[in-house]
Amino acid sequence: MMRACWLSSSSSVVSGSARNSCTHFRRHRRHCRVQLNARCVRASNAMSDRFFKNDLPDYDVSNPVDRFPSSQDFSVAAIAKKDEIVEATWSRQRGLSRDLTLYTGVVGTAFLCFKSFERTGNKNDLLKCLEILNSSNADVTRHLKPYVTFLCGRAGNYALGAIASKYTGDTTNMLKYLELLKQMVEEISSIGNSGMPDELLYGRTGFLWACLFVNEHLGDESITWSSLRPIVNAVLTSGRAGARHHANCPLMYEWYNTKYWGAAHGLAGIMHVLMHFPLTKEDANDVKGTLHYMIANRFPSGNYPTAEGHEDDTLVHWCHGAPGILLTLCKAAEVFSSDAIFKQAAIDAGEVIWKRGLLKRIGICHGVSGNAYTFLALYRLTHDPIHLHRARAFSSFLYENARHLVASGRMHSGDHPSSLFEGRGGLACLWFDIGKPEDSRFPAYEL
Ligand SMILES: [Zn+2]
Repeated sequence: MMRACWLSSSSSVVSGSARNSCTHFRRHRRHCRVQLNARCVRASNAMSDRFFKNDLPDYDVSNPVDRFPSSQDFSVAAIAKKDEIVEATWSRQRGLSRDLTLYTGVVGTAFLCFKSFERTGNKNDLLKCLEILNSSNADVTRHLKPYVTFLCGRAGNYALGAIASKYTGDTTNMLKYLELLKQMVEEISSIGNSGMPDELLYGRTGFLWACLFVNEHLGDESITWSSLRPIVNAVLTSGRAGARHHANCPLMYEWYNTKYWGAAHGLAGIMHVLMHFPLTKEDANDVKGTLHYMIANRFPSGNYPTAEGHEDDTLVHWCHGAPGILLTLCKAAEVFSSDAIFKQAAIDAGEVIWKRGLLKRIGICHGVSGNAYTFLALYRLTHDPIHLHRARAFSSFLYENARHLVASGRMHSGDHPSSLFEGRGGLACLWFDIGKPEDSRFPAYEL
């Protein structure tokens, strides 16, 4: 467990919420192990257990009838879901949440309130977001000390706090949060090239994403590129060292002795974050080469291995498999626009998700909501109406069926049913976004 607490100066003090945070860490590792252990099951059985057969009508160009709920229907449902989640995770707990992360905890509720504010303009949601962040801030600083990322660490509270404060006009509060993030920049830069993982949930890129999110809302140099450059360089140096024995792949990373490929712990998440930075030609070529390697070594189905050397074509999740990689490929298609392979590979991944992505879970990490988001990304990239149709089809499937499928035990509501990444929080985000596809963004991944 303590291997997670790489900032060793603070890891000796682990109590209360910090223990809970480590429990969260263990839970996520267990989740990954459970997912990977599915390899032990015969692939056909594992697959049929994981997703519903997709009988939803596909887009018919000769008869493009839209039978889905309206944007207004989705918006009303999203607001109701958001209110339920605020009640369950904040109001009913009288502000004493034990899980302080964005991934499964109360900062995820704050993120959902911010999404609601963005889509509806309701200032009360912005104020609720900030109330949650301000009330949690001291506990986050104290108990999440060893954890640095947006999704599972301090940076989630600090980055969202700076942004929400900006929109309320509270400059003093905004600068307080910004200063906390800048202190983290120095702290992480000082660690150098070793001693910290690089992946998105617990590593360097998970912190860099928080800085990108802040710059997106507060202005490009709110956290300067030059101050972040040492951290970006550390990620690249680490990847080159990890790729020493991989002749055809310029960058490779390990998380707990496994070379993951997916968005949560592996190459897709790391490459995605790197592509948002102004890279040198050599750095950009290494990112591009790594993505080429992944495309060249995908399964014949169009899906992607969970990790280097893993042969099971089973998982079709944001965290592991085609969905997270599709989002990264869409970004690559934008950054490396002269290279047509990325757009085509993203479209190929979309076919896998349409066939095998109607998962028996609702969340965005490893559920239908996350997979619906991939079609929105494809739609923004290609403007082909088939992808918007598919996003609406998955969203409507959840709108019409999730409640009774969960009640009857045929669908899992998530280990943390009110959370942003495993539960209905991500579903609410999807329903907020489905009416504005051009503005849609996979939470805490797309900028
Ligand atoms: Zn997952």
